[in-house]
Amino acid sequence: MSKGLLIVLSGPSGTGKGTVCKALLNKRKDISLSVSCTTRTPRAGEIDGVSYFFKTQDEFKKLIEKDAFLEYADVFSNYYGTPKSFVDAEIGQGKDVLLEIDVQGALKVKAAYPQGVYIFLVPPSMEELENRIRSRGTETSEQIESRLGKASSEMKLMKEYDYRIVNDTVDDVVSRIEAIMAAEKLRIIRYEDETKE
Ligand code: 5GP
Repeated sequence: MSKGLLIVLSGPSGTGKGTVCKALLNKRKDISLSVSCTTRTPRAGEIDGVSYFFKTQDEFKKLIEKDAFLEYADVFSNYYGTPKSFVDAEIGQGKDVLLEIDVQGALKVKAAYPQGVYIFLVPPSMEELENRIRSRGTETSEQIESRLGKASSEMKLMKEYDYRIVNDTVDDVVSRIEAIMAAEKLRIIRYEDETKE
């Protein structure tokens, strides 16, 4: 059985990754979402174990010591990390796994797992990105400035990714991700058993 795909979707904060992931997972029940751990406080409506596994700083540090993360990063003064065991188990069983993580994390995963599929979601424009972050209303103006500053430096790392998708409409983005997945599954490198000499 061939392994599942590891699909990593990232892009600057506020690009709409969360909305795209939700729509993709709604449409494609065969894709598993990796739920990250974080030390950030839950936002209204977020559920532990669904949105994130919410951890204290101490709990998170213990998990780091146990080598429980595929990658982890300090994003806006909070830790975020991808649990290793879930991703390994799903991919091993042939299931496709989606990671929605920030750019630093994605590049760490790429170093460890180059056969993954790395997709960079870009906002239609930087003005649009600013509007989205401001209208979300969940961050202070200081946090907004920090996210915008980070967004422009993250845009420069797009060249490390395999695919670039502009987030114009959610349905179009989802269709493009599905097309990428379909093509990726046909790549010769995914059929090691059949190509061995
Ligand atoms: P938020 O606080 O808005 O949920 O997420 C802030 C940033 O952390 C987003 O860019 C999000 O993609 C990223 N993030 C979420 N989970 C992880 C993770 O497991 N690892 C890393 N490196 N970043 C993550």
